[in-house]
Amino acid sequence: MCEEATRMRVHCRDCSFERVVCAENGQKPADVLIDHGQRTGHTLAVERVEE
Ligand SMILES: [Zn+2]
Repeated sequence: MCEEATRMRVHCRDCSFERVVCAENGQKPADVLIDHGQRTGHTLAVERVEE
């Protein structure tokens, strides 16, 4: 897994889609947002994972 500071949770407001991504692993939150949004037309939100 990645460090806390780089973990972002992407969740969809219109369905149960949710994914935690790592900013340092080449997988940016924006990529997940764009991918799901384009496929479904749903609205997504991203939040930083803090513990
Ligand atoms: Zn969705």
